[in-house]
Amino acid sequence: MANLRTMEVPVKGMDCTECTQHVQHAIQELPGVKSVNVLLAAEKATIQFDPTLVDLPMIRKAVAGAGYKVPESVPDPTPPAHTLQDFTRPVLTVFGIVFGVVLFIVVFGEWLGWFEKITELVPWPVGFALVLVFGYPVFKNVIQATLRRQVISHTLMTVGVIAALAVGEWATAAVVVFFMRVGDYAEKFTTDRARKAVRDLTAMAPQTARLERDGSEVDVPISEVQPGDVVIVRPGEKIPVDGVVLDGQATINQAAITGESMPVEASQGAKVFAATIAQMGSLRVKTTLVGPDTTFGRVVRMVEEAESNRAEVQRIGDRFATYYLPVVAGIALITYLVTRNPLSTAAVLLVACSCSFALATPIAMLASIGAAAKHGLLIKGGRYIELLAKADTVLIDKTGTLTTGKPRLTDVVRLNGLSEERLLTLAASAERYSEHPLAEAVRRAARDQDLRLLEPQEFVAEPGRGVRARVDETLVEVGSWRILGDQPLPAAAAELEKQGKTLLFVRANQELAGILAASDTLRPETPAALAELKRMGVRRIELLTGDNERTAAAIAAQLGIDYRANLLPEDKIRIVKEYQTQGHTVVMVGDGVNDAPALAQANVGIAMGAGGTDVAIEAAHIALMREDWTLLPRAFQIAQRTMRVVKMNLGFTMIYNIVGLTLAAIGILPPILAAAAQSLPDLGILGNSSRLLRQK
Ligand code: ADP
Ligand code: MG
Repeated sequence: MANLRTMEVPVKGMDCTECTQHVQHAIQELPGVKSVNVLLAAEKATIQFDPTLVDLPMIRKAVAGAGYKVPESVPDPTPPAHTLQDFTRPVLTVFGIVFGVVLFIVVFGEWLGWFEKITELVPWPVGFALVLVFGYPVFKNVIQATLRRQVISHTLMTVGVIAALAVGEWATAAVVVFFMRVGDYAEKFTTDRARKAVRDLTAMAPQTARLERDGSEVDVPISEVQPGDVVIVRPGEKIPVDGVVLDGQATINQAAITGESMPVEASQGAKVFAATIAQMGSLRVKTTLVGPDTTFGRVVRMVEEAESNRAEVQRIGDRFATYYLPVVAGIALITYLVTRNPLSTAAVLLVACSCSFALATPIAMLASIGAAAKHGLLIKGGRYIELLAKADTVLIDKTGTLTTGKPRLTDVVRLNGLSEERLLTLAASAERYSEHPLAEAVRRAARDQDLRLLEPQEFVAEPGRGVRARVDETLVEVGSWRILGDQPLPAAAAELEKQGKTLLFVRANQELAGILAASDTLRPETPAALAELKRMGVRRIELLTGDNERTAAAIAAQLGIDYRANLLPEDKIRIVKEYQTQGHTVVMVGDGVNDAPALAQANVGIAMGAGGTDVAIEAAHIALMREDWTLLPRAFQIAQRTMRVVKMNLGFTMIYNIVGLTLAAIGILPPILAAAAQSLPDLGILGNSSRLLRQK
């Protein structure tokens, strides 16, 4: 195929998971379309296509053919000021009341024989016309789908309506139509609510920026800002871009990214992020990233795309929904053949509600993912919620993850003629471009002594070992004992290791020149968080570290967990695989900087404190946007709660349908009640799942 392009088009009119499949098929069938991914919550389709064979008008036409719409112009990115939540609750309440009253009337009316009276009083053609008029939107969809040879959830009920009209029960048909319409609204509200969680997040993105141009200030839309532009941020304003503070000082609320509203200080040189708020003080910021490229933009995209990482149960649900309709049709046929009773047959067709199966999982997942994102917990899909809920093994990286990530250099031991200043200068210069927390510790120590760093040449970082670079004509190596090769450990090393310190050996021109010792403290909330994990059913917690045996042992002992030391990054991958082949569901927690492969290998890779690092957000399946261990048990809690809700939803729908079908088939449930009953599971699922939007 020629050059493929990827395009995102907005799609309007999708209210139900079923709809995404219709849109998907419609686009997929166009020539030149390689892949399509339709997102319900984000209301868009991501299409990979060959531009020589297909274009936007063709896609728009295909989508229109399926009964949905690609708007002419790209919608205004500014979301409405009042969000849906303001409406949802009262509407749901009214909706519930109306529903209850009608159900009540139907049940009593049937019992007291009102419907027969109504049927006698109102002339048949009038009833018939009523059904047609009110049912028009539904019938239109069903007919369109049938012409496309698709069976949708309302197809069965439409057949039921025809059956009811055929046996002269137009009142029943009217009730069916009423509940079909009500059911559609119920589903629309559910989807809108879940969508709202995503939209709330998008709404936090600033739309304009105040640029400094030729000495004056101009307000421009965010789309016109370029990297390199200087942006002015006033007190109380949102920072519009990712960038670096040129001057000024401010306290910044980073809740949009980290979920933590405790403000942080920022002054010259600090990195700041789009959508965070400068609460006090002004800043001049030099733009590095704009719009979708910012950390916040990426967060939003992850949440939007989370829908496509479907959970296994969701796939089963979708498949079930497709088999369910023919099965119900079969049961209806058997009912007719056995009982010869058109009323029971109509009741069977009417009681079945397939959309609930398709609805049960995605709604719960969307609700949880949206709610979690607001608390600084980025989950990339229902799939990971499902896996996290059944995880029994948690493996944890040490440096930067379990510890504060801000190790301090405590000792500098000289082992040959180099002065302490020279030793530190060489080491810090070699570490100049390393992202490792230990490298930062070395640089900080050098800075504290006002040493001037040199520019390293031929810099190489070897994950899990250390760095190598040529500094000032000297070949400098800094890293773990592994860089020593066959050289024996110096005596001073053992003493420092016993104190639980991490050692960095420094070699200059192949000769051991000194040892730097760093100590790192555990994050204070760690022990309680790990204990909580054990309470929640995690059976094994293990520390995996590239650090030395003694240091690892000291830390593991403090936490009461197992450990394995002296590991290279590839050893960590191997250990993850080992547990997986033993049948465990493995969670790997890392800082995402140098343990990305192990994070990717794990069933669920969790990156810690990903707020500032892009790699971590990309590599992990779940990103904890701030460095706070209490987020980990919270992630487990959300996952377990979500799966409980999903199972309840599925179980409830299943039981409801089995009981309903049985009662209908044996003739106990009259068609009019069957029709009223079929919308109940949707409502149940809606209510049950919306509990997840209120995760603490
Ligand atoms: P952990 O598994 O605890 O996160 P790493 O795998 O990142 O540790 O590193 C293992 C060891 O390798 C460290 O304890 C350190 O001795 C050495 N090391 C790794 N990267 C560097 C670096 N940039 N500078 C110095 N030493 C390093
Ligand atoms: Mg690490």
